[in-house]
Amino acid sequence: MNLLSFVRDIPDYPQPGIVFKDLTPLFADAAAFAAAIRSLADGHTGPGEVDKVVGVEARGFLLAGPVAVALGAGVVPVRKPGKLPGPVHERSYELEYGSNTLEVLQDAFVPGERVLVIDDVLATGGTAAAAVHLVQECGATVVGVAFLLELAFLDGRAALDGVPVHAVLTV
Ligand code: AMP
Repeated sequence: MNLLSFVRDIPDYPQPGIVFKDLTPLFADAAAFAAAIRSLADGHTGPGEVDKVVGVEARGFLLAGPVAVALGAGVVPVRKPGKLPGPVHERSYELEYGSNTLEVLQDAFVPGERVLVIDDVLATGGTAAAAVHLVQECGATVVGVAFLLELAFLDGRAALDGVPVHAVLTV
């Protein structure tokens, strides 16, 4: 199945000069979505290999839930500021324009748990790197970071040095 055919290019969104990769056609197709989930979970199916799957708000949530079920793992949200109840760890990072902050509940992991981080698109890598740092700040171990789509020309992998990175699709 050619999953790339389910990815739609939206020029100049959300701002001029950006080609937004719209994955909603892929999410909406039952066979394509199932194939994408299988590929994200692939390579982490060994017993006890993953305790928790992290989904990064918001599109990462759509993927992390089914991947967690496939791996027999729990799911943990990494969210934008002010959305999580209770004490959080937070991490700010630079985007192409401006900055962003992500948070995770401080008690989201048991120290030493093995964690797979999931997001939809790897662009510059700042978002995923922030999520990785938050998991590590909780004392858990990141065993991998997986994306549906990698924009290779932005070299986001450089921001994820030392962590195994898997992308289902690359452009
Ligand atoms: P990053 O630059 O890797 O931190 O990407 C920031 C966030 O914006 C990621 O969660 C991506 O899902 C999203 N994103 C960045 N660039 C694009 C793009 N061209 N198309 C779709 N989503 C994008």
